[in-house]
Amino acid sequence: MTLSTKILLGMVLGVALGAVLNILSASEDFFAANVIAWLVDSVFDVVGRIFVASLKLLVVPLVFVSLVCGASAMGVNARMGQMAVKTLGLYLLTTAAAVTLALAFANLIDPGMGIEMSTAANYEARPAPSVKEVLINIFPTNPIKAMAEGNMLQIIVFAILMGVAIIHSGDKGREVLSFFQSFNEVVMTMVSFLMHLAPYGVFCLLAKLFSELGISAIADLAKYFFTVVLVLLVHGLGVYMILFKLLTRLSPWTLLKNVRPAMLFAFSTSSSNATIPVTINVAERRIGIDNSIASFTVPLGATINMDGTAIMQGVATVFIAQAFNVDISLGGYIAVILTATLASIGTAGVPGVGLITLALVLQQVGLPVEGIALIIGVDRLLDMMRTAVNVTGDCVVSTIVARSENLLNEEVFNEVSDRDEYQAGKAD
Ligand code: ASP
Repeated sequence: MTLSTKILLGMVLGVALGAVLNILSASEDFFAANVIAWLVDSVFDVVGRIFVASLKLLVVPLVFVSLVCGASAMGVNARMGQMAVKTLGLYLLTTAAAVTLALAFANLIDPGMGIEMSTAANYEARPAPSVKEVLINIFPTNPIKAMAEGNMLQIIVFAILMGVAIIHSGDKGREVLSFFQSFNEVVMTMVSFLMHLAPYGVFCLLAKLFSELGISAIADLAKYFFTVVLVLLVHGLGVYMILFKLLTRLSPWTLLKNVRPAMLFAFSTSSSNATIPVTINVAERRIGIDNSIASFTVPLGATINMDGTAIMQGVATVFIAQAFNVDISLGGYIAVILTATLASIGTAGVPGVGLITLALVLQQVGLPVEGIALIIGVDRLLDMMRTAVNVTGDCVVSTIVARSENLLNEEVFNEVSDRDEYQAGKAD
């Protein structure tokens, strides 16, 4: 069995067992209820959390070390600027397309028509950071603090500076670079170890989640839920793949197969940030993207590119507007597109962050933020799906950029590996 198949199996079994436990835990039998509670709390929760913690543990070292190597391979020159502009442009463009698609579908399907707005709705919005603050915050005052806080944009800035300084430091620089290159290899091997444990980690994460998830909430919000799912599918399998085919002339099917492990991790952890180590591994070792591209585009994408999240926000805005009987004008729609596209910049890809930025979008068009309480019931499940789309988007854009810079190894790309990532890491 390939690793992806094993992870998929872990996911399916975890969801199935969780759903069964969910039903059984309602049983009158005191003994059964206690055994289930123990299993969920003391086994699945513990293993699942250790698994996610181990993934997160690798994010900062990997992003930093890998980007220092990447930046020193690329150097500060016109080419780097061109690559950065292309990446940013594609990230923003795909996100704007995602919200637009979501608004169009939501207006066709009318998910919020006939919804009785619950007056008990209660949700507190956080104040939005100003653009000025976001910009200043990209620059670290203390690199250790940036790393301790996992502030991705600040880490990216520091790593690029370091990488560039290395190439301007002659022999001494070369020594430091060689250390970083070896360190990068070691961290990648750690990622490979962890990927091997993924089937079990994913199984426990999902068994715990589904044993507690009230699936019944979906019934009340079916129209909203399935509209989001539909747009996620159209964007992930339609828009991305057409864009990919047009811009790279490579097979979208092969890309999807290569990206699969990252999608599965994203789905299981609901966090693009925690998935970064796997996404970098997949980008370099399965898709064939050069380190100088992937080390920049992947962590940047995990932070600023959230198409799946933007889709949820587009549909949710229309849903809440309909539930509260508010008409959004064309100007309002444009404001939604702009805010949803920009809101994701500077917010890390962690579980549930999409709801927080949704508050900004709602405020922008004058909708009651309490509306978020209406959709919170199904958000956990949607978070998993949209995170998979977010990470797929990062991989698609990274591949397009790498291809345009002639830094994509087509041999690796086409050799859809039956070999797993662990062996791939070793072979290198
Ligand atoms: N969980 C998503 C991510 O990490 C963000 C969100 O939509 O809440 O990409």
